[in-house]
Amino acid sequence: MVYDPENIFAKILRGELPCDKVFEDDTVLAFRDIRPMTPVHVLVIPKGPYVSLDDFSANASDAEIVGFYRAVGNIARDLGVLKDGCRFLANTGEDARQEVPHFHMHIFAGRDLGSMIKRV
Ligand code: AMP
Repeated sequence: MVYDPENIFAKILRGELPCDKVFEDDTVLAFRDIRPMTPVHVLVIPKGPYVSLDDFSANASDAEIVGFYRAVGNIARDLGVLKDGCRFLANTGEDARQEVPHFHMHIFAGRDLGSMIKRV
């Protein structure tokens, strides 16, 4: 899949749309989800143009990948959600209903999150 530079997160990265910023460094931005599903709901995104975890893991540099996952852990730690627990989730592709085609990691926390996925 080709990266769409007009996706919402690309616009946030360019400063064309606002966000409720939680963290930023050279390669990573984190902000609160506009429609939070849990009391704490933060999205962590790389600044590079990667469509999904598939694209990111295949094409990002080692420095970007290390920086991203270190930031995810540090942000969760700083949010104070690791003591009671939280959920990291990266929807990838159609079956997962990924809405925004810029790789992002959700951090859900602040209540009992229930079982991982609905059994059918
Ligand atoms: P996903 O379904 O994994 O692609 O999740 C995309 C997430 O982006 C959803 O939880 C949306 O609520 C969130 N979202 C969409 N637009 C914005 C925005 N402008 N600022 C913050 N979060 C957003």
